[in-house]
Amino acid sequence: MLKVAKFGGSSMADAEQYKKVKDIILSDPARKVIVVSAAGKRKEDDHKITDLLYLCYAHIQYGVDPGDIFQMIAERYREICRDLSLSIDIEGELRQLKAALRPSVSRDWLVSRGEYFSARLLADYLKFDFVDSVEWVKFNLDGTINQDKTYRALRDLGTERRMVTPGFYGVLPDGRIRTMSRGGSDITGALAAAALDANIYENWTDVSGILMADPRIVDHPDTIRQITYPELRALSYMGAQVLHEGSIAPVREKHIPLNIRNTNDPTHPGTVIMESFDDKQGSGKLLTGIAGRRDFTIVTIHKSGMSNAIGILRSIMGCFADAGVNVEHITSGIDSVSLAISSEESRGSLYTVIGALQKTVVPEAMEVTEGISMVAAVGRKMVFVPGSSGALFAALGRAGVNVRMITQEPEELNIVVGVNNSDFEKTIQVIYESFVKQQ
Ligand code: ASP
Repeated sequence: MLKVAKFGGSSMADAEQYKKVKDIILSDPARKVIVVSAAGKRKEDDHKITDLLYLCYAHIQYGVDPGDIFQMIAERYREICRDLSLSIDIEGELRQLKAALRPSVSRDWLVSRGEYFSARLLADYLKFDFVDSVEWVKFNLDGTINQDKTYRALRDLGTERRMVTPGFYGVLPDGRIRTMSRGGSDITGALAAAALDANIYENWTDVSGILMADPRIVDHPDTIRQITYPELRALSYMGAQVLHEGSIAPVREKHIPLNIRNTNDPTHPGTVIMESFDDKQGSGKLLTGIAGRRDFTIVTIHKSGMSNAIGILRSIMGCFADAGVNVEHITSGIDSVSLAISSEESRGSLYTVIGALQKTVVPEAMEVTEGISMVAAVGRKMVFVPGSSGALFAALGRAGVNVRMITQEPEELNIVVGVNNSDFEKTIQVIYESFVKQQ
């Protein structure tokens, strides 16, 4: 049994957090491969080490002394070493970092030091091996990750070792360090899990998994216990902030379950993400989650005989594509079609699209409605329950929400409703109340 556990920035923020992390790791001998982020914020107005390192780099580039920022970084690590009585030569490490703060310093090398320090310190504290990610996370020259080389390199380093490795960076073919995009330690964890065919990839953070709705809109929403990858995709597309996108593919390809857990509440089972669950009928809640985005523009085109006109949808879509506008949702009637586009993204090109539609499609009428929010109710079980969409619309109707547009995925994985921006929050609250609370 092998568990790869990744700990995020808040789990590495100070000595107190290190103690929790150690307890979690040592409570299960299967947690052998540990991936860490740089130290994050200890409280709301604190700084993330990675942000300080980027700031340090900017100072150097502008010829401003980075001394004060360096001191802030150094103090964070000295404190952890002191509080945990670590044996690592932290002063030697910090001297090396300080000496490197020159105009020629590589940005990626510098900002990767947060993860490097976290891994060094935690390895020392756990008495696990420190394995630098330059030894196994291999980038291609174009900045993409060479999955084969990466997997092979980690396996070659030994599959039975107990190790701590830094997230967020790897090595280019010429030996230079290369960082991933922000939040990239999630990817490193997924790569390690996939390389070693782990039984599970645990992603430890400061929340007990993915919430069923945005807590700013719904008071204390429940945690999603089980979610499939397609559901996750539907929710994150509609704005739910979950994991780094790149962290999904490596574990999904290998059918490794991904478990989001809370370092501050380690007995909570968190959220498990898998390709599918064996729960088709009956059990649990009908809805998995609700998410939404504001500020869509809906373009509705009316033309008699539209349904009989071959290729008309292609011409319509062509007008949007030619102007570089992405159509996000579409719903069609016999003689009309409505297309939802992001207001922000189409700001500069909406009139070009309208002009092109007038010319190519020659509609009888066209309406443009702005200020629309799209809200998605996502749930893999809806397809098995007759009347689920009826119940959803009835609840919205009772609450006086005017539904302006409806789309549904072919598999009934989600139902998306377009409502006025002013009804955005109410729509999410009503769906939550009627489908989650009252079940
Ligand atoms: N430390 C990096 C960041 O702040 C990467 C990570 O935490 O995953 O983006």
